[in-house]
Amino acid sequence: MSGIRSTGFLHLGNYFGAIRNYVRMQTEFNCFFMVADLHALTTHPDTKELKESVQRVLAENIACGLDPEKAALYCQSHVPETAELYLLLNMLAYKGELEKTVTFKEKARQHPDNVNAGLLTYPVLQAADIALHRADLVPVGKDQEQHLEMARNFVNRFNHRYGDVFPEPHAFNFGDELIKVPSLDGGGKMSKSQNQYATIYLSDEDELIRKKIKKAKTDIAPEKPNSPKPESIQNLFLLMKLVSEEDTIQKFEDDFNHLTIRYGDLKNQLAEDIIRFVSPIRERAKEIFNDKEYLKKVMTSGAARARESAQSTLKLVKSAMGMDYF
Ligand code: ADP
Repeated sequence: MSGIRSTGFLHLGNYFGAIRNYVRMQTEFNCFFMVADLHALTTHPDTKELKESVQRVLAENIACGLDPEKAALYCQSHVPETAELYLLLNMLAYKGELEKTVTFKEKARQHPDNVNAGLLTYPVLQAADIALHRADLVPVGKDQEQHLEMARNFVNRFNHRYGDVFPEPHAFNFGDELIKVPSLDGGGKMSKSQNQYATIYLSDEDELIRKKIKKAKTDIAPEKPNSPKPESIQNLFLLMKLVSEEDTIQKFEDDFNHLTIRYGDLKNQLAEDIIRFVSPIRERAKEIFNDKEYLKKVMTSGAARARESAQSTLKLVKSAMGMDYF
């Protein structure tokens, strides 16, 4: 189980942190993936672009290789059982722990005029999404580690108080560790809602990708052989590891270590390799986005599958809580 908020265009961070794992998981597990439109409302109260954003996130997920026949793909608000479980889990979440959440503190700082209760209880809604399908594996990027820990706390508290209903959810990634795709300005992560110029979107046209990479932060050239890489250079190599061939990476590693590196060449190569990766996804996503009938079919059948799973979980929840009154 995992989700992506409908707050803008998907980017390389979403792909390598999350979607790449979804695509592999769909053939091995019973999967639920959703567009988190309710979570989007915690920071994006203006809903003018919501519909388009939901459709685009869905289209981009499918263009990345998610198959609605294999995994259930749905929109969060189409499964009202989510809200019911969220309400019940809210009774097990404490104000103090919610206030300490790093993402809450960050977002409260960014939007001081809109520190709403939904933002504070964001991790509870996320725990509800996961627990709704009694999911144990949650493919997410590194930025979600703390939320997953909170989800574990909430479901463990539930199990402890009312009896075992939920498995413990864990962040999942096919590699050795969770991934953080860095932004191109030398600090932070690529993100849908910030640093538009420091983030490569799956919808970016080739020329824009070249421009963004050209502008990416670099550092002075190394002065001694085999020096440690400064952070901004480390970040460019990290991106290269995601999209470039093994021998290309090795060539630039050698150039760096032998003091023959030219950052301009590194960037040109990186830009071309990103374009090779992004352009087929971009073109496919455009086609899917324009096929509204198909999107409707995907969302309808995904919601039906998700609701079936959700209703059977809620039955267990209510029975464990003694809320089966007749
Ligand atoms: P955003 O931060 O862009 O709004 P979301 O919060 O909707 O993205 O996150 C959707 C998924 O993408 C989550 O699993 C998250 O961990 C992952 N993700 C987002 N940004 C990155 C990044 N820069 N690197 C790795 N994973 C990321």
